[in-house]
Amino acid sequence: MTLRVGVIGTGMIGQDHIRRITQVLCGAEITAVTDTNPEVTQQVAARLKKATVHTTGQDLIADENVDAVLVASWGPTHEEYVLAGIAAGKPVFCEKPLATTQLACRAIMAAEVAAGRRLVQVGFMRRYDHTYRELKGVIDAGTIGAPLMYYSGHRNPGVPDHYTKDMAIVDTAVHDFDVTRWLLGEELAGVRVLAPKRNRHGGDLQDPLLMILETASGVLVTVETSVNIRYGYDIRGEVVGEDGTAALADRAPVVLRRAGTVSGTVPADWRQRFMTAYDNELQDWIDAVCAGDGATGPSSWDGYAAQMVCDAALRALYSGEHVPVELIDKPSIYA
Ligand code: NAP
Repeated sequence: MTLRVGVIGTGMIGQDHIRRITQVLCGAEITAVTDTNPEVTQQVAARLKKATVHTTGQDLIADENVDAVLVASWGPTHEEYVLAGIAAGKPVFCEKPLATTQLACRAIMAAEVAAGRRLVQVGFMRRYDHTYRELKGVIDAGTIGAPLMYYSGHRNPGVPDHYTKDMAIVDTAVHDFDVTRWLLGEELAGVRVLAPKRNRHGGDLQDPLLMILETASGVLVTVETSVNIRYGYDIRGEVVGEDGTAALADRAPVVLRRAGTVSGTVPADWRQRFMTAYDNELQDWIDAVCAGDGATGPSSWDGYAAQMVCDAALRALYSGEHVPVELIDKPSIYA
């Protein structure tokens, strides 16, 4: 079976996912595209073998030549398209965020529960990165005993002019929140946000941020976002356990020793760092849908839980207070 995918949103990540589905992965083809920018959509469609250009996302979802929907439009539009996909009984891969409010996330979960099965996968691609998978393997095997603390560093050489204070949490740290929940296998229960001295490269932006979170069992988690740090895109992660520590290794493919120095390269950006993770997550989605499973990767519950941590972190940022993360009971389809 070749999965016929319709893509809503043909901007930066939408085009990148189209490239990987048509040139890198197997088992799927792009049969429809839509975007609010018709010129871009026409250009994208012209590069595809046979893709219908739709005026709206709703038309694309209704297209009988679309088996599954990939949502890569602007975040606030995700709710509408994910709900329409579920209503049509079509599996949906939704780029993060699942939705931008907790009510919208809950509406999506309620729709999936009513449908009686999972139909949605959320684009938390770090779970498909092999270094994170190795780290999770070490934690789950009990090699370092029970985790007590986890540090997650998210360093970016620079950000566009439109990047805001809130985006450090909802666009950047959201990946750290999700991967922390996944690595530790439990929910984040509360958060405090500290604002250190500002990086002069960030202008008026409050950068960096340091977030201190705790899990339901009391593991202490620190998340650092430094988004103007110039030297490269550097993702750090270290677990301190009862018997040892486990950390993501440096990513340089080659370590150079020369003229009294030891050096290695740092990835230039997130595309380079997580290229294969994006490939793996979409292949996993295609395989699950083709196998009739709907979705097996990061779920609507994961999208909801990450959004709740973001909401709490934003409140903590502006209040200076510790803010609890209060989740509803997890529906059994996400167990
Ligand atoms: P982008 O380049 O701005 O592309 C988004 C596209 O969606 C734009 O062409 C936009 O058109 C279009 N659009 C907006 N509203 C729409 C609607 N109602 N129906 C159809 N198309 C619509 O943004 P991006 O960087 O690709 O990000 C898209 C999504 O992917 C965001 O949710 C972002 O958070 C997520 N993302 C995730 C990752 C990750 O690491 N997992 C990385 C990057 C992005 P206009 O320009 O006309 O508004």
